[in-house]
Amino acid sequence: MLDLKGKTAFVFGVASEDSIAWAICQQLAAAGCTLYLGYQKRFMSRIFKLKDQLPSIGGFYPLDVAEDASTKEFFDAFAAEHPGKKADILVHAIGFAPRTCFDRPILFVEDADINTAMTISANSLQRCLKHALPYLSEGSSTITLTYAASTRYVPSYGIMSMAKAALECWTRELACHLGPEGHRVNAISSGPIRTIAASGIPGFDNILNHVASNAPLRRNVTQSDVAGTTLWLASPLSAGVTGQVIHVDAGYSITMVPETIME
Ligand code: NAD
Repeated sequence: MLDLKGKTAFVFGVASEDSIAWAICQQLAAAGCTLYLGYQKRFMSRIFKLKDQLPSIGGFYPLDVAEDASTKEFFDAFAAEHPGKKADILVHAIGFAPRTCFDRPILFVEDADINTAMTISANSLQRCLKHALPYLSEGSSTITLTYAASTRYVPSYGIMSMAKAALECWTRELACHLGPEGHRVNAISSGPIRTIAASGIPGFDNILNHVASNAPLRRNVTQSDVAGTTLWLASPLSAGVTGQVIHVDAGYSITMVPETIME
């Protein structure tokens, strides 16, 4: 286990114990980090139950990245309770698209719904970092979560494919903007994992089955697999890595023709 004793992390995106961000919290805590969680108010009761499981949680405050002002409120609340404190790590594990984005053909998705998906799932990385910057230590590491539909067609992922492409572009832009001050920004492209967000993707179970049969490792990845790579990206072991999209997907992204054609 990596040693991150004395380090502090902002973690955004815990909604349940299945959340990838929750596995990240567990591994960061085990490595010695103190955690400050941003949560959506609709998940408050779940978060309150989970927080008792991790004594390393130093605080948790509401966060809604749909609006600039409500994003800032998280950092205002953190600063009010912990004056002068800074974080070394920021985990952005946030994604959302309105139901109507998946219920109709992509050509007819409404502008307002496209804008919501792009704001919350992609542009919020810039929004979070803008407000976080005064509270980030020198040489901080930011990690966001993306999906391979950013560069290839995945049926039913729809507007989220555009959002993930934009998120990866933000990762590169922000890495270049913040790099001269020593801050790093990277994305992990996770394979499919059953979570609340994933349950909104039509046909998700079929995708899980397909990947388990065809990925080089012949399995799906787990939350813990993604958390392990997050820990590495949060640590000095990855000090020379920024602006990258790192695939944690049991190798699925290197394949093209499914193994099943040989049956
Ligand atoms: P999840 O539902 O547990 O987490 C999604 C999180 O986004 C929730 O905590 C939710 O509160 C947060 N969120 C949504 N709208 C928000 C808003 N307006 N303000 C603040 N927070 C908001 O699901 P997850 O699968 O753990 O998702 C985490 C990230 O991983 C997402 O970016 C998702 O796209 C990405 N990802 C997931 C998979 C997968 O298969 N599960 C694969 C690749 C990438």
